[in-house]
Amino acid sequence: MVSFQNKDILKVLNAKLDRIQVDLVHLMADAKPVLLDQSTQGRLSRMDAIQQQEMNASLISRMHQEERKISAAINRVNDGTYGICCKCGENIDPNRLNSDPAAPFCSECTTS
Ligand SMILES: [Zn+2]
Repeated sequence: MVSFQNKDILKVLNAKLDRIQVDLVHLMADAKPVLLDQSTQGRLSRMDAIQQQEMNASLISRMHQEERKISAAINRVNDGTYGICCKCGENIDPNRLNSDPAAPFCSECTTS
């Protein structure tokens, strides 16, 4: 019922997951509170640092979401339900899976 090579899909998904986890480790290391040395940093660079931390924090939460999404897709490959919409049970358009291999929903369920 699934027109994909599960092994290939797993390879793609695991590679994506690995990359995200590596990026997350780096980001989390960067997200540790920056020690702000008042003598060498002006007000602007301090604001930059805070802004940078906020951007990191939102990036980290986005990547955690992506991590969960990819893990769920890997589980679906193992369950044999990969490529099937989690909402309506229809097959997900292969083109859609090509552009987003971890897509849990068909295009109709995503937009509705
Ligand atoms: Zn659907």
